Amino acid sequence: PARINSKGWDLTHQPTLDAIDKARAPLRDATYLAGPLTSSEPKYPRRRHESSSPVLNPAQPDDIVGQVTPATPDDVADALAGAAVWTADHSTRADVLRKAADALEADADTLFAILAREAGKTLPDAVAELREAVDFLRYYANEANAQRQGRGIWTCISPWNFPLAIFLGQISAALAAGNAVIAKPAEQTPLVAFRAVQILHDAGVPVSALQFLPGGGAIGAALTADARINGVAFTGSTATALKIRASMAQHCAPGTPLIAETGGLNAMIVDSTALPEHAVRDIVNGAFRSAGQRCSALRCLYVQSDIADKLLTMLKGAMEELSVGNPWHLSTDLGPVIDAAAHKTIADHISQAASDGRILHQINAPAQGHFIAPTMIRVQGIAEMTREIFGPVLHVATFAARDLDRVIADINATGYGLTFGLHTRIDDRVQTIVERIEAGNIYVNRDQIGAVVGSQPFGGEGLSGTGPKAGGPHYLPRFAAADPAQATG
Ligand code: GLU
Repeated sequence: PARINSKGWDLTHQPTLDAIDKARAPLRDATYLAGPLTSSEPKYPRRRHESSSPVLNPAQPDDIVGQVTPATPDDVADALAGAAVWTADHSTRADVLRKAADALEADADTLFAILAREAGKTLPDAVAELREAVDFLRYYANEANAQRQGRGIWTCISPWNFPLAIFLGQISAALAAGNAVIAKPAEQTPLVAFRAVQILHDAGVPVSALQFLPGGGAIGAALTADARINGVAFTGSTATALKIRASMAQHCAPGTPLIAETGGLNAMIVDSTALPEHAVRDIVNGAFRSAGQRCSALRCLYVQSDIADKLLTMLKGAMEELSVGNPWHLSTDLGPVIDAAAHKTIADHISQAASDGRILHQINAPAQGHFIAPTMIRVQGIAEMTREIFGPVLHVATFAARDLDRVIADINATGYGLTFGLHTRIDDRVQTIVERIEAGNIYVNRDQIGAVVGSQPFGGEGLSGTGPKAGGPHYLPRFAAADPAQATG
């Protein structure tokens, strides 16, 4: 008789992709809930069902993934009044965060299902995201120490592109340093965030130390315009970060810290000594993985003209191998972009390039759902790209060896400085370029996405962020009072 494991798969045969999809069907058909979790009302769902709205699957807009009840101004008032720093000592806090990390791993199947359906994450991206989330919890737990004392109440505002990892990264750092947190997830992705918060509460984080307010920009604005807020951690657009800074200057005590991680216009230089197979793999990963929806993603590739024909031919071939479709299926490389508004912005950008005759290559994508076909567009240089296009669109320029200085100057002149990639086999060139490029994360002979907590602290300079880098040794101290005697908590 065939051996059957706990999921019902016949282990004497490789499970087919269909069989795996079937086994996951209960998660695909479930609906999930999210709503405010404040210390005055810690047990959602209890109320206001009439005001909840559906959360839709970006790959399949008729699939209702769950329901969210947005926070109201009363919830904001409750959360601010009820916030209380976590008084447990640092080693207890660290133990609770480690326990939560274990519980998140144990909940992997459900978290993957929500990430796929709510955020359009492919399974490999969902796996990487859970890995990063638990790495953040364990890393900051290890960094918690007795010398630190929290500053008080932190507002944490996180993006939809890493609705679990960045959401929990901000929160766990603030908690490990001994603060209270009021967390606002991205409007598009409340469900996975809500489940994560419940897991943290179950592991022992008091509700008064971690309150949850799903909602849109008005909730975020209220949480950055109050004198009771002692710090803000924000990841999202540069424009929103500037608004938050202005609001805090007006409403919060002088010196209240803002940690902002924002956008990028990231470049890669591939010179004529690069190994083409290796460069092509890293370009495809950097530009198209996660459907280009990472702030670290490659936006503008500079290829030395001597090898441009060969490299672009190989790149087109590699693009043809990508499969775009429902992220639920294991064979999918690119899922959808997050919503209709994102789809329109990216599609308009591609249409403009098409009408200018600048499309170098484009593959197919499904017509239903918010899918964008991976596209390669010719540009003269990064200077003509005035804004970040947050999708699977690669811009390509060529350069002659004598123009390298100008290319570096143009990359620096964007004002952003998040990631940069370089493919070359000349050691001296690595050194001179790396010294001159102004970017937070520089990657040589590899792709430029997927910074690993602890070994590749992540964050930019200039318009790309304030620092300190997440997942590095300077992050947690920023959440702590410089002088513990001054701490409010
Ligand atoms: N940390 C991610 C990476 O290295 C990017 C984070 C973001 O997109 O905000 O790819």
